[in-house]
Order: sequence, then structure tokens, then C-alpha cells
Amino acid sequence: MRILVSGAGMAGLSAGISLGATGHDVTVIERAHHLRTNGSPIDIRGRSLEITSAMGILDQIKQHRVSMTEQTRFIDDTGTVIAKLPLGVGVANDSMDDIEIPREDLALILRNAMPPSTTLIFDESIKELVDQGDGVDVTFTSGRQDRFDIVVGADGLHSLTRRLVFGPESSYLQHLGLYVALTTLPPESVGEQGILNWPGHMIGIVSYRTTTLGIMNFRSPWLDYDYRDLDAQKQILLKEYAGHSEWRVPEILDSVRKDGELYFDSISQIHMPSWHHGRIVLVGDAAHCASPLSGRGTAAAILGTSALADALLKHPDDIAAAFQDYEADHRPYVSHAQTSATPGGDLLVPLTQADLDARNTQLREVTA
Ligand SMILES: Cc1cc2nc3c(=O)[nH]c(=O)nc-3n(C[C@H](O)[C@H](O)[C@H](O)COP(=O)(O)OP(=O)(O)OC[C@H]3O[C@@H](n4cnc5c(N)ncnc54)[C@H](O)[C@@H]3O)c2cc1C
Repeated sequence: MRILVSGAGMAGLSAGISLGATGHDVTVIERAHHLRTNGSPIDIRGRSLEITSAMGILDQIKQHRVSMTEQTRFIDDTGTVIAKLPLGVGVANDSMDDIEIPREDLALILRNAMPPSTTLIFDESIKELVDQGDGVDVTFTSGRQDRFDIVVGADGLHSLTRRLVFGPESSYLQHLGLYVALTTLPPESVGEQGILNWPGHMIGIVSYRTTTLGIMNFRSPWLDYDYRDLDAQKQILLKEYAGHSEWRVPEILDSVRKDGELYFDSISQIHMPSWHHGRIVLVGDAAHCASPLSGRGTAAAILGTSALADALLKHPDDIAAAFQDYEADHRPYVSHAQTSATPGGDLLVPLTQADLDARNTQLREVTA
């Protein structure tokens, strides 16, 4: 079949591999002009590791593993450590073999594993799509037009494919009351790491290998802004953290001002009653974002795209049956991933000073 995949994140690249490897002619399009590789390291968990093994990339993934969770230190205004996150607290693993890997490394490994039958096109996006019953006619923002047997929406939390086919984002998005931002600090800022809190806010520095990231989380009701407007994102962050000059906060905010690849988004989940409609199907965050608090978005993306490829193999002449199988197979993991997100915010971003003190006391007791 001719398959269009919209989005070249972890879900889109995995779809390019799994669908290409099962004999389909796959085109993956990415709106950005390059792979979006920034972000903090992500996790490949449980059964998704078996899928990467079947893709032939598990050894490469192991070679690029990092360990961030072990480093979590909560600090005071001066940078003195006041509490540590013990190993195993936060997001629980799916298996003893779970692997944490920089997003950029996983994206490049996935991209290099795509079979020759899969084409990756940058600077391209869907403008319009019409499901004609026997195929989907797609008009692209470049002006090109084409027809595909299936369109796979892998375009993330704010999926355009979902909006065009299933309706507005607000029908499916559940904001968990937090925002997240990540900025890459300049190379000279390597050194002291830690996480500083004040009620409803956290700001920290984490590093792996030669990369140092400034990370921010704050509690807020839903904010109305154009999520693709980088300047609007920066203004929100700078306003939210204004008036704080403790520790290395000014340095992190300075990096926010200068960062052309800043990652900023709401911490939200996507809950949909169905992930498919006619010849169009959603995968990854577009279908079922669990939020960074779950630590399972990448595993869910890899598992889901593999389940989709298997279902299409099983029902080569019945797309509706294939999509139903995909959903039935994948829903249990998505439920697990979405449920696991709930407690993370309380640990990282306590709401009040009393909550913050209680967290620190509790952590000091368990790590004493
Ligand atoms: C830049 C970035 C940084 C991230 N950092 C973290 C992190 O630090 N921690 C964490 O837990 N999760 C992070 N995530 C989310 C995490 O990658 C996903 O939850 C998970 O890997 C599932 O991936 P996905 O492919 O479904 O979604 P995403 O990783 O969001 O990928 C979606 C892709 O689709 C592309 N796209 C969007 N709209 C269109 C369109 N209209 N046409 C074509 N392409 C489009 C996007 O540019 C992106 O490449 C980040 C995502 C991004 C995009």
C-alpha cells in the first residue's frame, strides 16, 4: 500500500520503519526543515525494547544510553543540596532493561534504520485531505498533490491530522495543570546541577555527556497562545520566572531568550474514543499523548506503530479490521502509560510551601 505518515518524531520514524519493513511504500513528511532532536532524554521501556531489537537497532540504542534519573538533586537558593530523589522514585520502570537515551540519538538511529522503501521529506505538511473511500487525496503545503491508501497522523500532541479528521484539539486534550520548557545551555555552563523549587515552580539544570539543559516546569491553568509562536512561548516563560535571581536562574532565562529551538508545551494528555476514521489513523502522541510525566510516550509510540504494521499484515484487504486490531492490541499499554503520569507533578512541582517542605522532609528520610 502507499502510506503517508505525517510527522517525523519517534512515532513517525518508527512507523516509517515498521510499515516500510512490512512491504509498504511509505512517505514520511516533517513540517520542520530538520529532525527535531532537542528535548531531554527519553525512555524505551518494556516490550518496546523487543521491537527495537526486531528493527535491528537495540545494540545501537544500548550504546547511546544515559542515566539521568540517578542525578536528581533538589537544591536551595544557593545551590546546596537539600534532598535527593532516590533511585526508583518518580516513574517506575516497565522492565529491568528499560533504557534512557537522548532524543537526538534515538531520532538519528531510527532515521538511519528506515528501509529504502520509506522516503523522508522535510519542510512539508498536509494542507488538505479528502478520504474518497478508495483512497485519500492529499494536498500538501508545497502545492503538491498525491493519493495514498492510508494516512497515518504521527504529528504529536497538537496533531494537524487529528484536527482535520477528528475535530478540534479541545475535544480530546486534558491539560494536567503544568507547563514544561527545555533550553540547551551553552557548552561553558557544564557543572553544578540541581532542581530549585518555589511553590508551583521548578527550574533546574541537568546534563548528560556534553549536553547541559535548563529545565522548567510550572503550574498554570490552560494558556491561550499560538503554540507555534516561539516569541509568545518565551514571553510566557520570562514572565512566569520574572523577579527570580537565585542560583543559576538568570543564566537559564538568558538561554531561553536566545534559544531558537526552545521546547515549550503544556503537559497534557490526549484521550480519544477511537484512533481511526476511514483510511486515516493516528499513532503516538497524536492519538494518545500520555505527557512527559508518564515517561512512556516513546515506548507507546514504538509499540503502537508496530501494532499497526502487524494489524495491516494480518488484514491486508480490510483496513477497518486492521485499524480495530491495532486499537485493541495497543489500548491496554496506553491506559497504563496515561495512568502512570498522575503523581509526577506533585513530586517535581509541589503547589504550596507546605507541600514543598513535606516533600523535602520525606525525601531526606528515605535517602538518609
Ligand atoms: C522538540 C520536542 C522535544 C520533546 N522533548 C521531550 C522531553 O524532553 N521529554 C518527553 O518526555 N517528551 C518530549 N517530547 C515528546 C516526545 O518526543 C513524545 O511524547 C514521544 O516521543 C512520542 O512521539 P511522537 O512522534 O508521537 O510525537 P513528537 O515527538 O511530538 O513528534 C511529532 C513530530 O511531528 C511533527 N509535526 C507536527 N505537526 C506537523 C505537521 N502539520 N506536518 C508534519 N509534521 C508535523 C513535529 O515537528 C514532530 O517532529 C518532545 C517532543 C518534541 C517535538
